[in-house]
Amino acid sequence: MIRGSTGPHDRGRVVTEIVILTGAGISAESGLGTFRDLGGVWTQVRLEEVATPEAFAANPARVQDFYNARRAQAASASPNPAHEALARLQKAFGDRMMLVTQNVDDLHERAGARAVHMHGSLFSALCNACGARDTWTCDITNESSCRNCGRKALRPDVVWFGEMPYHMDQIGEALQSARLFAAIGTSGVVYPAAGFVAEAEAAGAHTIEINLEDTGHPAFRECLTGPATETVPKWVDGLLAEGAR
Ligand code: NAD
Ligand code: ZN
Repeated sequence: MIRGSTGPHDRGRVVTEIVILTGAGISAESGLGTFRDLGGVWTQVRLEEVATPEAFAANPARVQDFYNARRAQAASASPNPAHEALARLQKAFGDRMMLVTQNVDDLHERAGARAVHMHGSLFSALCNACGARDTWTCDITNESSCRNCGRKALRPDVVWFGEMPYHMDQIGEALQSARLFAAIGTSGVVYPAAGFVAEAEAAGAHTIEINLEDTGHPAFRECLTGPATETVPKWVDGLLAEGAR
């Protein structure tokens, strides 16, 4: 289906043929809890208390503490075979594949892939005063100074509920040209990512859902169920074999 070493070009630019969307489920077997896991971190806090601009305005220290804990947890986790398989796929397809993630961890990058982080990253700080972004690996507190303007106005560079996800134009364009769209480890309830499958389908792509369980999402043409560390490497090997034929 998707083969050839040099992909189609649109006025000298490589056209995206594969779009892969990942969610919290791909990092679950690395020990990072998903959104709705029973006993997971997100079930122990109320979303409105930590993941909205209003929460940050009301109690910035509480929100910083929450994300500092998430950052430390993500830093101590390791990429799993599903992240590694997607990195292999990206090496083979280059710019003809776009990896989009809703995750704020850096496990795709540490597996060797480049991901478009539509919900931002725990490892970036955003300055509320000057808008600068900065790589950040330690805690952010209300006393942390922006390295650009010097003000003590840093927040985690993650997209909260009610805020606009990042890179939507770039993702929308890729979905228009994709011939294959896969959603891996995402519950498909958080918009706008939940709408990507319909966009890809309308543009003529084959659509596949890879999840621990069948989410019952009617939009996908194909569904692979099982833990991502098993399903994703197998699926990637199949695609690579198909490309090599
Ligand atoms: P979600 O928690 O709503 O859904 C996770 C999905 O993954 C579920 O459908 C579940 O069945 C599936 N899943 C669980 N374990 C799996 C496994 N081992 N293999 C395959 N699938 C598995 O997550 P979401 O759809 O990504 O949306 C939640 C939001 O929460 C996102 O916006 C994200 O920014 C944020 N979040 C991020 C992280 C992270 O960065 N690691 C973790 C939790 C939540
Ligand atoms: Zn600043």
